[in-house]
Amino acid sequence: MRSSLIAGNWKMNGNLQSAIDLVEGIKAGDAGKAELAICPPAVYLMKVGGMLADSNIALGAQNVGDREAGAFTGEISAHMLLECGCRYAIVGHSERRTLYAESDQLVAARFAMALQAGIKPILCVGETLRERESGVTEEVVARQVDAALDVSGIDGFARAVIAYEPVWAIGTGQVATPEQAQAVHAFIRSRLAQLDSGVAQRVQILYGGSMNPANAAELLSQADIDGGLIGGAALKAHDFLAIAQAV
Ligand code: PEP
Repeated sequence: MRSSLIAGNWKMNGNLQSAIDLVEGIKAGDAGKAELAICPPAVYLMKVGGMLADSNIALGAQNVGDREAGAFTGEISAHMLLECGCRYAIVGHSERRTLYAESDQLVAARFAMALQAGIKPILCVGETLRERESGVTEEVVARQVDAALDVSGIDGFARAVIAYEPVWAIGTGQVATPEQAQAVHAFIRSRLAQLDSGVAQRVQILYGGSMNPANAAELLSQADIDGGLIGGAALKAHDFLAIAQAV
């Protein structure tokens, strides 16, 4: 039986005070049975990590460097994230792939560096609207998963999380139907099962894309949906906790 993870991706929102208020609000609330993780902007990781130290809420980063250390201006290494207390790092978010041109290979290198440091990567995969309409959703998602498999092997996925995030559903208010999401989640799991059925059964596959308190329960009740990666709704403690309670 897989546990459910509800992870909040705060993106580049808020300020130090709003980050503190949000953490306090989440800590004071009830997440029900869900595991929680929050991924604040990198400059607040140390502060938020300190605030979470006496809680069960995990800290995550929104990205991780693809190299160990050195002259890579603007990057943050997995070991630095570990020092902040990170247990998770998002890699391959569609905003990184589309707005910052991160390739499957770069994402796979980030995935590998997180694993090497003992941080669980949350590998985001998902198709654009044009790709869905062209009928190549599975092909796209398979290519994105395979890039990480090529570098880290199936064993890497024993220590990773996957987030299926259809690009057309992110921040748009247009959510995938539970059936659409379930079908892709099942496809991802079956692809991993071709290599190792045990790993495939254990890996958590989250759904992301306009999940909110009103639609969470139906999405989270699907057999292969093991939680959510939440953007907009993670910025309000009440909404984030309501999604967690829907598990
Ligand atoms: C995301 O950015 O990962 C995301 C799912 O955003 P939203 O919930 O706002 O669609």
